[in-house]
Amino acid sequence: MKPTIALVGRPNVGKSTLFNRLTRSRDALVADIPGLTRDRHYGHGRGASKPYLVVDTGGFEPIVTDGIMHEMARQTLQAVDEADAVIFLVDARSGATPHDKIIANQLRQLGRPVYLVVNKAEGLRRDMAGAEFHELALGEPWAISGAHGDGVRELIEDVLEHF
Ligand code: GDP
Ligand code: MG
Repeated sequence: MKPTIALVGRPNVGKSTLFNRLTRSRDALVADIPGLTRDRHYGHGRGASKPYLVVDTGGFEPIVTDGIMHEMARQTLQAVDEADAVIFLVDARSGATPHDKIIANQLRQLGRPVYLVVNKAEGLRRDMAGAEFHELALGEPWAISGAHGDGVRELIEDVLEHF
């Protein structure tokens, strides 16, 4: 069985851009409009030392109940549940947001290996890009640029090493 890596994160952090790079496809929707990927979207990872599957998740606006955002959408939870590892993307340019913290809390409870990945980090030092995200309590952040490719290969090889 090929390991499955789920890309998770709030809208606009760059999940679909990374999906396209990993799968070398153009078919995940990338846009400035948050939340465009409405369903789970699977592809074959390419160019790594082992085969793997990658799933882009979208439509992950938290469900709002009693005025508080407290739940990731069911689709996301299912994708995470089915995945062997989770890449949790955050945005170096916006820092850790309340929405990131909600997702981080949920991921910690789901019992899957989680890689905290700071995207849009082109031109930033890894330690500088990651500093703000230690508070998410998901370990040492990786810094990548899904758009430019910086750090992407190293990240994927590290994830795949465990399978
Ligand atoms: P998603 O909603 O998480 O799937 O995010 P998208 O992949 O659609 O990207 C949202 C926006 O961020 C788009 O304008 C992308 O071009 C931009 N983006 C994605 N990755 C990077 C990156 O590594 N660096 C920068 N500067 N922008 C990025
Ligand atoms: Mg998307």
